[in-house]
Formats: sequence, C-alpha cells, structure tokens
Amino acid sequence: MANKMASCIFCKIIKGEIPCFRLAETEKTLAFLDINPLSQGHALVIPKVHGEKLTDIPDDHLTDILPIAKKLALATGAHEYNILQNNGRGAHQEVGHVHFHMIPKPNPQEGLGISWPQQKTDMDKLKALAEEIKSKM
Ligand code: AMP
Repeated sequence: MANKMASCIFCKIIKGEIPCFRLAETEKTLAFLDINPLSQGHALVIPKVHGEKLTDIPDDHLTDILPIAKKLALATGAHEYNILQNNGRGAHQEVGHVHFHMIPKPNPQEGLGISWPQQKTDMDKLKALAEEIKSKM
C-alpha cells in the first residue's frame, strides 16, 4: 500500500506535489477539475485516503463525497449530468485511486457517452439472484 500511495498521482495532488484546479475540500475529500474534460465543468471528487476501488474506502469517507458532487453539479449549472465511478481496468478505471466523476451533459455530443448492453432475463432468475445477493450482505 505504501508503494502504491507513493506513486499515486491523486495522492500527489492531495499532498500538493502536483498542481490541480481545486474546487472544494473537506477533511476527508478533495474535488478538482478533470484535466481531460468530457464537457465544461467535468470534475473529480476523491477521498483523501488511498484506495483503488470503492470497496477499499471506509464508509465515513464515502459519505463525505456525494454531497460535494451535488454541490459541484449545482455550481456548474448543469441541468443534466452523470456521476460515474469506475472500478478496475476492465471497467475503464485508468487512475488507481477512487474517484467520482461529475460530468455535465450539456448536449448529445459532449459529456459522457454510454453503451447500455441490456441482457434478457426472467423474473425467476432475478428473484433467485436477489435472494443470493441479499444472503451475502
Ligand atoms: P478513470 O478512467 O475513471 O480512471 O478516469 C481518470 C480521470 O482522471 C480521467 O478523466 C483523467 O482525465 C483524469 N486525470 C488524470 N490525471 C489527472 C490530473 N493530473 N488532474 C486532473 N485530472 C486527471
């Protein structure tokens, strides 16, 4: 973990070793502009503790994040926007430090484009799956 933190670009931003356009900050959270925006106002909200995936972050840090994403959505004046959080390379995560994107969607061309490959299923399968997941929570 210490090695990963030392080389983590977002940990360096938190420590001020790499510059960023800071938007908001609390004891547990930092928000700044994405350097390669999908639309104007595209911002990232990150926990100040290092963790690669959502499941690595303590709950009290996670609960600090969404209110800041909400404030950013309001402050950018975005009427339509996506909150996105990728986990793992296969799920399009490039930076291995948890981050929530707040991406304004001003028009069909700018912002997040989504492929939504829905699968066929049936009620019995969904019921069995819901029971299985609930039993593990
Ligand atoms: P993801 O694919 O979810 O891991 O997204 C990583 C995001 O981090 C991308 O949108 C990048 O543009 C953004 N990013 C990477 N380095 C920086 C940086 N130094 N400052 C701001 N945003 C960054």
